[in-house]
Amino acid sequence: MNFAEIANTKPFIIAGPCAVESEEQLLTIARGVAKAGAHALRGGAYKPRTNPKSFQGLGEEGLKLLALARKETGLPIITEVLDTRDVQLVAEYADILQIGSRSTQNYPLLKEVAKIKKPVLLKRGMAMTMEEWLFSVDYLLQGGNDQIILCERGIRTFETATRHTLDLNIVALLKQKTKFLVFVDPSHGTGLTSLVSPMSKAALACGADGLLIEVHSDPANALSDGHQSLDLFAFQKLMEDLLDFKGRQG
Ligand code: PEP
Ligand code: MN
Repeated sequence: MNFAEIANTKPFIIAGPCAVESEEQLLTIARGVAKAGAHALRGGAYKPRTNPKSFQGLGEEGLKLLALARKETGLPIITEVLDTRDVQLVAEYADILQIGSRSTQNYPLLKEVAKIKKPVLLKRGMAMTMEEWLFSVDYLLQGGNDQIILCERGIRTFETATRHTLDLNIVALLKQKTKFLVFVDPSHGTGLTSLVSPMSKAALACGADGLLIEVHSDPANALSDGHQSLDLFAFQKLMEDLLDFKGRQG
């Protein structure tokens, strides 16, 4: 996908399930988020799970389902690449490559992804300073890829009432100090469905260029991250609110 299209769509909204689970699950969600006005579909095929017993994703089968959902809805797809050995394969399917929080300091992975001529969404490591994050950006730039989207997704703090602490300071600071696109992921950043909409609005208010939001047709039965996913109704409502918000900003 054309990087300028991402840069020129304000805000650029990426939505979809944490993980691709099945054809029916993905197509239902893809149709729903497309109808609500999302600009791209997310869905993990290779999942970096803390517990090795948790669902690890469908792998290449998941990539094929994402391609099917793109064909059906016209939405470009973004998915995580977790392993250096999968970069070529994931890049054949994805329109935007995602580097997850756990991988942002995986320098061999960054070097491989840098060779791909596609946009890359680089999440912030959950314990990374801005300076460290920007060094990871340098790996991509030095390797020849400047189609970079930074994505704040919450950091580890002493607070346990939320899964992570969404650091909106860094969003405003990055917009002041760099020329990069800065997105916000309020789903991982809060870990709580009820906080996703308010923090989406807060993110746009402090200058975020786009959002990455987990949406599931049946959050209670999601195989991962249902506790932080919006259902399709809540997502539709959020999109209406964001349009309103944009209108008020002029
Ligand atoms: C995800 O987007 O589903 C994900 C695993 O995010 P993070 O890398 O930010 O934890
Ligand atoms: Mn997730």
